[in-house]
Amino acid sequence: MALDPSRTVAELKELRELTGNDDGAQRVAWTDTWVQAQEWMAGKLDGTGAEMVFDAARNQWWTLRGGSEQELLIGGHLDSVPNGGWLDGALNVVAGSEVFRRIAEEGEPPVTVRLVSWADEEGARFGRSLFGSSAAAGSMKDQDELRELTDRDGISLPEAIGAHGVELDSATEAGKQLANAASYLELHIEQGPVLESMDLPLGAVLGTYGVERHRVTWRGQAAHAGSTPMAERRDALAGAARLALELRQIAARTGDGAVCTSGGVVCYPGIVTSVVETAEQLLDQRHLNAASLAALLEDAKECCRRFAEEERIDVEFERIWNIEPILFDDGLIELADESIKEVAGQSHRLPSGPLHDAAEVSRAGIPTVMVFVQSLRGLSHTKLEDTKEEHLELSVQALDRLASKTIARLAS
Ligand SMILES: [Zn+2]
Repeated sequence: MALDPSRTVAELKELRELTGNDDGAQRVAWTDTWVQAQEWMAGKLDGTGAEMVFDAARNQWWTLRGGSEQELLIGGHLDSVPNGGWLDGALNVVAGSEVFRRIAEEGEPPVTVRLVSWADEEGARFGRSLFGSSAAAGSMKDQDELRELTDRDGISLPEAIGAHGVELDSATEAGKQLANAASYLELHIEQGPVLESMDLPLGAVLGTYGVERHRVTWRGQAAHAGSTPMAERRDALAGAARLALELRQIAARTGDGAVCTSGGVVCYPGIVTSVVETAEQLLDQRHLNAASLAALLEDAKECCRRFAEEERIDVEFERIWNIEPILFDDGLIELADESIKEVAGQSHRLPSGPLHDAAEVSRAGIPTVMVFVQSLRGLSHTKLEDTKEEHLELSVQALDRLASKTIARLAS
């Protein structure tokens, strides 16, 4: 049997039926529904002769031994957020399984081919994303923090993963799985509006944005709203408000896809009769280029210092979280572009705003690339998430071509 992209769409609908309800997909990691999805997927690959194993982080692997120990990996994640979409993560695995079956049917491939379904990409239950891929990639260094995490019902992370045979201290043994990995491919829905706005079905992903997250605290002086003349005020909210608007210029000055967001401001005392004494503002800045990301942050800090001076208030920056930009492999980006052009006529290169398992694999030094398929209305993490069926089928074809080209390159 040759590649059958329509089977991917049919199987995704089957999975939706099996693991979703009226509110959307319910495949939250470390739940029975997630396990059900894993068993369903195993059934779909039963006839291929592939070995299936769960590693120490409960990543699910299928292996098709090839002429060499070098491995081509194709990956995705079956877990979803609560009330999630039918495609986020699942498309990657189900499309990957179609390509995997096609390769298996053609006999022994020149290199070993593996499909991986990463555990707990979403971090929906405990707030820690990329669990399985970070364990495998060697970047899981926060075991002490993970030990303290609990879900809404007070169940701890160690307890929940323990029920699925995973121990925090040994989860990183999943790293052995990447010992022979030579290339990693991941297909994903875009989860944003760019491809749709360009009327293109598919794009090659350049890498994932680096992120700088800060809490910006502005401090002024609480004062009576009636008795304090305007010129006498030291209004903390004025600083936050000026930064919120200046972010448009800050992003524009650095450019090249820069994005900055002030996601929230909390004011104290926060009553209608007082000037704001303290304003705590959340700032998120992203760029694909490390120097540009640093420039974005520096620009924001400089503006804050100026606003603080002009408003006669104080300002303080506290880093909440950051991650460096992760650039995918140039050679694989070329191959992804070629594959997309062959099936869709035109390709577009774009960065990824969200992080993906591919970022962890790439961080581990394994040449990596992703292919994005258009998301309708740019929506994801909601039951409204959708992609045209014809585009889903094109994405399976593009992944298949990319896999063939990558195998040929590894084997040469
Ligand atoms: Zn995803």
